[in-house]
Amino acid sequence: MKKTFVTKELVERIVKEYPTPFHIYDEKGIRENAKALKEAFAWNKGYKEFFAVKATPNPFLINILRDYGCGCDCSSMTELMLSHAMGVDGSDIMFSSNETPASEYAYAAEIGAIINLDDITHIDFLEKTLGYLPKTLSCRFNPGGYFALGTDIMDNPGDAKYGFTTEQMFEGFRILKERGVENFGIHSFLASNTVTNEYYPTLARQLFELAVQLKEQTGAHITFINLSGGVGVAYKPDQTPNDIKVIGEGVRKAYEEILVPAGMGDVAIYTELGRFMMAPYGNLVVQAIHAKHTYKEYIGVDACAVNLMRPAMYGAYHHITVLGKEEAPCDHKYDVVGSLCENNDKFAIDRMLPEIETGDYLAIHDTGAHGFAMGYNYNGKLKSAELLLHEDGSVEMIRRAETPQDYFRTFDCFAIYDKLFPEKK
Ligand SMILES: *Cc1c(COP(=O)(O)O)cnc(C)c1O
Repeated sequence: MKKTFVTKELVERIVKEYPTPFHIYDEKGIRENAKALKEAFAWNKGYKEFFAVKATPNPFLINILRDYGCGCDCSSMTELMLSHAMGVDGSDIMFSSNETPASEYAYAAEIGAIINLDDITHIDFLEKTLGYLPKTLSCRFNPGGYFALGTDIMDNPGDAKYGFTTEQMFEGFRILKERGVENFGIHSFLASNTVTNEYYPTLARQLFELAVQLKEQTGAHITFINLSGGVGVAYKPDQTPNDIKVIGEGVRKAYEEILVPAGMGDVAIYTELGRFMMAPYGNLVVQAIHAKHTYKEYIGVDACAVNLMRPAMYGAYHHITVLGKEEAPCDHKYDVVGSLCENNDKFAIDRMLPEIETGDYLAIHDTGAHGFAMGYNYNGKLKSAELLLHEDGSVEMIRRAETPQDYFRTFDCFAIYDKLFPEKK
């Protein structure tokens, strides 16, 4: 049985102050996991996790990770602004963007972030934008074809828009070296949400072999290799979660077999995990407000895809616990649905659950990454609050819920805004 840190008692206590729906995060779980990651890679002197800010862009949560030495991986201007405003040092900010506007490169350079180029044409683009090239630069690698573990195809990099081809990596490193770049990084993200301890070690082996060749053929001084994101979580109850200790050891083995003999035993390993750092430690808590019996049995809840888009967008599975009914038999089949005028607004389809009555609270699991963050405002729906459950059991609001005023804010230079909010002139 898949468990969650959220209980009925906890929710009944919280709703006195913060109504459903809300996302709630578990500080204890976040800390234990971040510590385990740090220990798994402690063998590598320069190891650093740059948390993928896009997964959960909340400064309170990112600050917890900073206690374990984590930096920030950013993909946009506002993520860079957030990281900088939080006081994160430039050397702890990775800028792994694509189709990057000149203004974002300029700002990244200004705050001293490490720039990870997505394409060979961006070398000229960056140099033209800044008037120089930074001394440290990274290039994103895409080997094309399929990424497989044994006979299992994990993902399809050949169809992905990201990164330099193999040839472009060599050409790019030569050009960068000629133009004065001193420290080189290699980055690659080849498969998403992998639930296997083999992904990172297999990726690492490919990148380490490439790094040795790049060094030999271009003379580039490679200072870090960035394994990026992609280590997944067990969304489904029958999946076995990744063991980060085993993953760290697998990368170490490849490092000692390939990099150390090539005289590259000083290369730092970087990661840009998002999902693995946060997903299991967040839940979306909703209330059942309607039960509809037509051609199927529907439970209508007070949240919708605006609060959690993954099921609608990817058909993703998110486990659901009916709070207070953890031990009850799952003998009812439901579609658990939100209120959007879109028939894909379903948190679960044909899900076996205990009998649900209106008023019941439901915890939707594993929403701590790519959950709140993917929210949008379709149907004029507003985003929920985010709450943090501290280790001592207290609950802190770490982002308030959106209000209609937020929604209409971009009309604030028009008369309609003053009409809607005359008191806020
Ligand atoms: C999304 C993303 C990540 C994080 O991916 P997860 O699957 O959440 O670990 C890391 N790096 C880059 C460049 C990304 O785009």
